Amino acid sequence: MKIFRTAEELNNVLQDHRSNGDRIGFVPTMGALHSGHASLIEEAKSKCDRVVCSIFVNPTQFNDPGDLEKYPRRPEQDISVLEAHECDFLFYPSVEDVYPEGMDYRLDFELGYLDETMEGKFRPGHFQGVAQVVYQLLSIVEPTHLFMGMKDFQQLAVVDKMIRDMELPVKLIPCDTVREPDGLAMSSRNLRLSREMRASASVLYETLQMVKIWVLKFNPEQVTQMAIEKIRQKGLKPEYFELVDPQTLLPIHKVHPPMVVVACVAAYADEVRLIDNMVIKA
Ligand code: AMP
Repeated sequence: MKIFRTAEELNNVLQDHRSNGDRIGFVPTMGALHSGHASLIEEAKSKCDRVVCSIFVNPTQFNDPGDLEKYPRRPEQDISVLEAHECDFLFYPSVEDVYPEGMDYRLDFELGYLDETMEGKFRPGHFQGVAQVVYQLLSIVEPTHLFMGMKDFQQLAVVDKMIRDMELPVKLIPCDTVREPDGLAMSSRNLRLSREMRASASVLYETLQMVKIWVLKFNPEQVTQMAIEKIRQKGLKPEYFELVDPQTLLPIHKVHPPMVVVACVAAYADEVRLIDNMVIKA
C-alpha cells in the first residue's frame, strides 16, 4: 500500500489511473479502524480497480472539542488493517492539506431538514462539517465510487444530498453495518466504554430488534416510549429514538405495511455517545 501525506502526491499517482479509465473506490474514515471500516474496503475492492482510503480526524465536524481531543488515533494499527485488506492507497493528510484556504472558509451546504432532526438537532454544525470534509476529499481524490456505512444513516442522507446538489460525478454506495457478536454496532468509540457499559451497550441492538415486532402492534409514539424505557433500564441515557422515513427522515406517525421505516437511536453510555439504526420492512 502506498501512503500519501499530501494531495499533490496522491494526485500524481491517481492521474494515471483516471486516464486509464479505472474505477476508483474511495473510503473516507477518521481512523481507529475496525472490521466495519474493513468491510467498506472489501466492498470497494469488489467493485473498483483501485481503492483509496483516507484517515483524517476532521475538526470541523466535532461540535464538542473534548470529543475531538479524545478521538482515538493509532496510525500503525490502522496501516496494518489496511494492508491486510490490500487497500491500494492511503491518504493521510494534514488539516492544511484538506483545508488549504483555512477551516473558516466554508461552503454553505443547503441541508434543510436533514440538518435539523436527530443528529442535526443534538450536534449543531456537525453535518455542515461532514458535508464540507466529504466535499473537500472528493475534490482531491475524484473517485468514481464512494463507500460509506449505513451505521451513520443520517450522514449517508446528507452526503447523498450534497453529491446531488453539487452535481458531483461519483456513485455513493451504502454498506451494511458490521456488528460485534452481541449486536453492538462496531464503532471507534466502543474502545472508550468501561467493561460494564460495554456489556450494557448491546441493549441498543436488542431494542432495535424488538422494534421490528413492536411496530406491527403499537403506534410509533408507544414504540418510542417502549424503546427509550428499555434502553434506560440498562443504564444508558437515550438522547433520541425516532421512527423515520428512509428518504426524507421525517417522523413516521403511522406504520401501515408494506412500508419501510428506519429506527434511529442515540444514547450515552456514561460519557460515550453511541448511535445505531435499523431499516425495518414493516
Ligand atoms: P468513521 O471513521 O467513524 O468516520 O467512519 C468511516 C466510515 O465507516 C463511515 O462511512 C461509517 O459509516 C463507516 N462505518 C463506521 N462504523 C461502521 C460499521 N460498524 N459498519 C459499517 N460501516 C461502518
